[in-house]
Amino acid sequence: MPFIPCILCGSKLEKRVDKNSKPYFICDPCGIQLFVRRKRGIELLNEAFRNLDKAQLPFTVHARNLHEIRALIKEIDGVKAEIDKIGSFFLSDEESRIRKALKTKLNNLLSQLDQIAKENIKKTS
Ligand SMILES: [Zn+2]
Repeated sequence: MPFIPCILCGSKLEKRVDKNSKPYFICDPCGIQLFVRRKRGIELLNEAFRNLDKAQLPFTVHARNLHEIRALIKEIDGVKAEIDKIGSFFLSDEESRIRKALKTKLNNLLSQLDQIAKENIKKTS
């Protein structure tokens, strides 16, 4: 069965057809509805489904990366919040060390994000 991934959660969305035989996709948990109304879109969709094996790969990669990127951003926000909590003035030795460790972690997370972005560019070019 032909499907495309939900742009938010990555679930498989199966192709449905409306009463005018135009294709559409619905993600129930997210409430996303995607309608393909024009000739150009329908042609592109059919083309993608015709090359299903080839087309599915970038879809899957894309959906996987979305998950990773969202998880990373969440973690980055968490670390930033921790750093803010400690502040940067009048720190005890221990606080300074914690702050330094958090900064290192933040840098690591940011490089991971860069890495994913670079991989994506390589895959799409
Ligand atoms: Zn979804």
